[in-house]
Amino acid sequence: MRKAVFPGSFNPFTIGHKDIADRALKIFDHLIIGIGYNIHKSSGDTISDRIKEIKAVFDGEERISVEAYEGLTVDFARRHGAGFIIRGLREVKDFEYERNLADTNAAISDIETVFLTARPELGFVSSSMVRELLSNGYDASRFIPNKVNR
Ligand code: ADP
Repeated sequence: MRKAVFPGSFNPFTIGHKDIADRALKIFDHLIIGIGYNIHKSSGDTISDRIKEIKAVFDGEERISVEAYEGLTVDFARRHGAGFIIRGLREVKDFEYERNLADTNAAISDIETVFLTARPELGFVSSSMVRELLSNGYDASRFIPNKVNR
């Protein structure tokens, strides 16, 4: 059984994240979506809401589980017996940051990082862009996965 962790802040979970998760399921038997948080920065309430929202997106998909974690992603992956970390790449800026992270994780564990490039039409979608739209009163629903249609 090949298990992978898809870590992120997912604040909120977007159609870009969903696309990466759906595509990762073609490669792996089980995907654990891990919401990384810092106990000093996040409020427990928003994290549990985020877990509920993401679970609703994948309702009925038994190969996906959703959990929050604190600390290093490699430790979270090890606890679940996952040998892989999935990350999405949108642009060169992502690559530079992500390579550093992947190299660090490879130096301290035998967990492999697998990169999936963003679909061109979703490359501009980010959680921060969605938050910006929402905080200015815009409807951002088309960037958020439709829970009902799954
Ligand atoms: P983090 O704070 O760890 O970067 P994010 O929630 O912003 O967490 O992103 C989680 C992962 O999803 C990252 O690998 C990021 O590159 C990827 N990602 C975010 N948006 C998209 C998108 N539109 N297309 C593909 N990958 C994406």
